[in-house]
Amino acid sequence: MLQLIDKLIVTHRLEPGEYRLLLEKIGGETGAGGNERGGEAATNDSFLDALTAAARKVAIENFGNGVYARGLIEISNFCRNDCLYCGIRRSNRNVARYRLSKEQIVACCRLGADLGFQSFVLQGGEDMGMSDDAIAEIVAEIRREFPRHAITLSLGERGREAFQRFFDAGADRYLLRHETADNQHYTHLHPAEMSLEKRLQALHDLREIGYQVGTGIMVGSPGQTLETLVKDIVFIEHFRPEMVGLGPFLPQHDTPFGGEKPGSLRMTLALLAIFRLMMPRALIPSTTSLATLASEGRVRGILAGANVVMPNLSPVETRALYALYDGKKSFGTEAAEGVAALTSELATIGYQPAFVRGDYRG
Ligand code: SF4
Repeated sequence: MLQLIDKLIVTHRLEPGEYRLLLEKIGGETGAGGNERGGEAATNDSFLDALTAAARKVAIENFGNGVYARGLIEISNFCRNDCLYCGIRRSNRNVARYRLSKEQIVACCRLGADLGFQSFVLQGGEDMGMSDDAIAEIVAEIRREFPRHAITLSLGERGREAFQRFFDAGADRYLLRHETADNQHYTHLHPAEMSLEKRLQALHDLREIGYQVGTGIMVGSPGQTLETLVKDIVFIEHFRPEMVGLGPFLPQHDTPFGGEKPGSLRMTLALLAIFRLMMPRALIPSTTSLATLASEGRVRGILAGANVVMPNLSPVETRALYALYDGKKSFGTEAAEGVAALTSELATIGYQPAFVRGDYRG
């Protein structure tokens, strides 16, 4: 089985059946069963250790011990969509909605720049109360004030024309998780008006326009199987995104999936490692959801090959309202003002935050 890891290191790809074997070896469950410490899962720990050690070595060869720090700004929790897993889906009436003004967003960037950040990520729901004009103007304003900083958007499917306008205004990167490359699974996670075809088209549009593109999945989302995971791995292998966003599924109590079990830490770490070995220079965050799932989740993600962290620069009063899932961390080391705490946490494993643009260099 270790030969599969060696093959992935050398060729950066495996056959679909080999990916499946590898995932089975990790523990076989995409959900909480993979977090358990008994039986098969425990016996496979040494295999997971070998996989993550190989990925860590590759990450260090490419990025050293610096972890790219991006300042995350959650600009709106309005959303026209009703994804079944998401706490800010439109039919959740228990969310107090907010939308930051351009002035508030630029103020968050100023705070981030003062803290040393050279890279901003603007994330939000598909908020049609925020017009394409308004978003383009926000991007242009940030670009004017911070000509050398990186600007990443994560605002869902807004259409090719809008993507082009944001790019022309100065955005560099766009994150849009495909969520699952399996049609049936996509339908299980999303309302009828959304489609995998549209999601993939959006990713191709972003790529053609010239963005550095990020995609990814939730590990352990309801309905996910080893087969759908293999499809995700093969999709990412072929699409070759510059960024891969990967975190465990975490339930939110007001959603139809509120009673589902969370995704597996072990499987999330294994997938981080697989993507690092597949794409040695990809930008792969150790996500907030991973830090929420397990107390040492963030550092374990880095030790499995992740090379990006995204502390929260959003105004303190809106952070709790951007509740995609229960228990989301947005304070302490997750928050921008916790840079010192984050630095200490990374130092415990011999790493430090890197306050750079952190572009993809293929
Ligand atoms: S996952 Fe994104 S698009 Fe879907 S409801 Fe949540 S914010 Fe909206």
